Amino acid sequence: MITITGLNKYFGDHHVLKDVNLEIHKGEVVVVIGPSGSGKSTLLRCINYLEVFQKGSIVIDGEQVGGNALTGKMTRLEERRLNKLRQRLGMVFQSFNLFPHKSVIENIMMAPMDLKKLSKDQAHAKAEALLKQVGLEEKADVMPSSLSGGQKQRIAIARALAMEPDVMLFDEPTSALDPEMVSEVLKVMADLAATGMTMVIVTHEMGFARQIADRIVFMEDGCLASQGTSEEIFAQGPETRVGAFVNKIY
Ligand code: ATP
Ligand code: MG
Repeated sequence: MITITGLNKYFGDHHVLKDVNLEIHKGEVVVVIGPSGSGKSTLLRCINYLEVFQKGSIVIDGEQVGGNALTGKMTRLEERRLNKLRQRLGMVFQSFNLFPHKSVIENIMMAPMDLKKLSKDQAHAKAEALLKQVGLEEKADVMPSSLSGGQKQRIAIARALAMEPDVMLFDEPTSALDPEMVSEVLKVMADLAATGMTMVIVTHEMGFARQIADRIVFMEDGCLASQGTSEEIFAQGPETRVGAFVNKIY
């Protein structure tokens, strides 16, 4: 579904992704872990081309991500193609980025109406179903500012799902939340995984990673240092780098 081959990314002279190879299969839940600064966010951002990369390729269902590798400049056609591709990738960030001047349900309805040309009624019905899915049907008409952090993040997930993406990318979706709100967001994500959604999740929640991941990928200093099933990774002893990492945080 997503094939990353020989990916290299620089910020100026700083080499932040070094020959990363990674294959993500349909329906798979891949959790990316690793120390701060190891390149996890940059990897996710390269997948939907929020970051230009200099070498290597990312192919999503046969479609190449990116334009001119050196300048990031794209032709009109490439831009249109990228926008189409991005619609198939839902992204949820640490900060929720809801539109503050729109109600909760309007936040969810906007993209399907603008980009998928759904009618208002269709978008409304879809948004209601998604609000139910994330357990917030009673919040449809409130403004985002009146929600808790955990509720905002569940709305952000619903909003991403409204575009019916093929893949959901999560970058530390719970790290800005108060501890008591983390589990409600993780539950929504676990439910989503159970529906067969393809998911790539960057998280420091090791218990959650262990429980939800089909595969865990350990990044270190820009390299994909090791990967394995959840059982394989958590069976590593503290003498291995990944073992030391998961045991220290877990
Ligand atoms: P964290 O766990 O703290 O979120 P991360 O693994 O997500 O870390 P990245 O944010 O991908 O790490 O950063 C990888 C490296 O790239 C870091 O050294 C960071 O300082 C650098 N970096 C990230 N974004 C930029 C940028 N826009 N400009 C310059 N350097 C950047
Ligand atoms: Mg990060």
